[in-house]
Amino acid sequence: MAKYGKVLVWLRRDLRLEDHRALHEAGELGDQWAAAFVFDRAILDDLPADDRRLTFINGCLAEVEEGLRQAGSALLCRHGEPVEEIAQLAQKLGADAVFASHDDDPYALHRDARAHARLADIGVAFQTFKDHVIFERQEVMGQTGLPFRVYSPYMRAWKALFQDDMADELPVDLSRAIPSEHLPEDSRGLMPLEQVGFKPQSLVIAPGASEAKRRLEGFSKAGLEAYARQRDRLDIEGVSGMSPHLRHGSISVRACFRAALSQDSKGAEKWLNELIWREFYHMILACFPHVVEGSFRPEYKDLEWPGNPEHLEAWKQGQTGYPIIDAAMRCFNATGWMHNRLRMITASFLTKDLLIDWRAGEDYFARGLLDFELSSNNGGWQWAASTGVDSQPYFRVFNPWLQSVKFDPEAVFIREWLPEIAHLPTKTLHDMNGSGLEGAMAEYPAPIVDHKAQRARAIALLSLKGEG
Ligand code: FAD
Repeated sequence: MAKYGKVLVWLRRDLRLEDHRALHEAGELGDQWAAAFVFDRAILDDLPADDRRLTFINGCLAEVEEGLRQAGSALLCRHGEPVEEIAQLAQKLGADAVFASHDDDPYALHRDARAHARLADIGVAFQTFKDHVIFERQEVMGQTGLPFRVYSPYMRAWKALFQDDMADELPVDLSRAIPSEHLPEDSRGLMPLEQVGFKPQSLVIAPGASEAKRRLEGFSKAGLEAYARQRDRLDIEGVSGMSPHLRHGSISVRACFRAALSQDSKGAEKWLNELIWREFYHMILACFPHVVEGSFRPEYKDLEWPGNPEHLEAWKQGQTGYPIIDAAMRCFNATGWMHNRLRMITASFLTKDLLIDWRAGEDYFARGLLDFELSSNNGGWQWAASTGVDSQPYFRVFNPWLQSVKFDPEAVFIREWLPEIAHLPTKTLHDMNGSGLEGAMAEYPAPIVDHKAQRARAIALLSLKGEG
């Protein structure tokens, strides 16, 4: 016999109807279930109306709604303070329990603690389930029982603990979805984006579970085998583009692991290891929450970064005079997307060439990335700044000119985003220093700093011996 009569499944960052732990459990533990989404005012009120992520979320939800409609049910949707909205919906529905997937960002943990208390007050159980990663929180620990601080041993321990059935699909029983006519009428159906204060935007990565599946299948067939060779190239589609889907849960992480494990190739192994990097940073955030506020490494806690606001603005606007940096930032500003190699190069440039606090860059990325994930963004920024766990050693400083030659050899990416200098020879685009073009190019700046000099300053700063 089922433990619960009706279960309300609260969707947050798991926007799909397939291979879904909370929905699967609702079918196992409840007689019937309904699914709800709340547009959270506490998050949304701070975002601009043209935030692309809302278009992505809306696209995912539209597909969820259509799936429920075909099953004779409907999506429940509210806009407001989520704990209160969910409590009211649970009461209206007569639910005995609310189910949700874990979300370990600090804000979400706090919200869920409040939900637990509020729902307990009205006699409704609140159960949450791991869905977003294979191993979460403290599940992969070192032999001493302490968290890993270096990726490679974590990855080996992760692989030793992993069993194939952990990536098995978790079926969802749509026949148990409560018929539409028995759902609260005032909350049935997805709200139009405009009603919650946002304008639809164009997206470089299309939203929704069927699009995620199509992308993953395409990548598995055409990109996975070559991934290790092509993943750093900026002029080739060598990466999967799955991160926005993983972030918003329009694909199950298990489906990605199944794809990685389905092939015996160097590319598949490398891709598997990248998915494990995501879990590593998830673990770091759970075990060392102080990284949200400051440096993982205590020696850099009080470091004063000497960079200036004009340089920060030039970096944001793609006006540094370094074509690879400027192309990356303009691509990001226009699309909300940036290739991993470019995230590393631009983050290194901000922190080690412009000597600007990594938190300023982290914040800028957080506001715009289609796949913004606190744990990975923080991990990536602290890696680049050398302040983080298993980070780039402080004396390694990317040379933006050489990165540009190596990963965009024909300057294809640079030309796409910098039309005003697209006519220049490739060699010049890879090194504008001493190009003799200063002043001749009204629309494009000369390099705002000298890389060689700044590299020396960064090493002195981060060696904590002062800037010399
Ligand atoms: P693929 O190369 O196809 O990799 C597959 C998946 O593995 C990705 O979707 C992602 O989930 C995971 N992955 C790959 N590389 C990393 C990595 N270095 N760290 C953690 N997970 C990884 N990733 C985010 O998802 N959200 C962020 O907010 C984010 N911010 C970043 C900021 C900086 C400064 C840096 C250096 C990296 C950041 N990353 C972030 C990691 C990485 O850049 C993206 O995951 C990747 O570019 C997404 O593209 P993809 O899906 O094509 O990746």
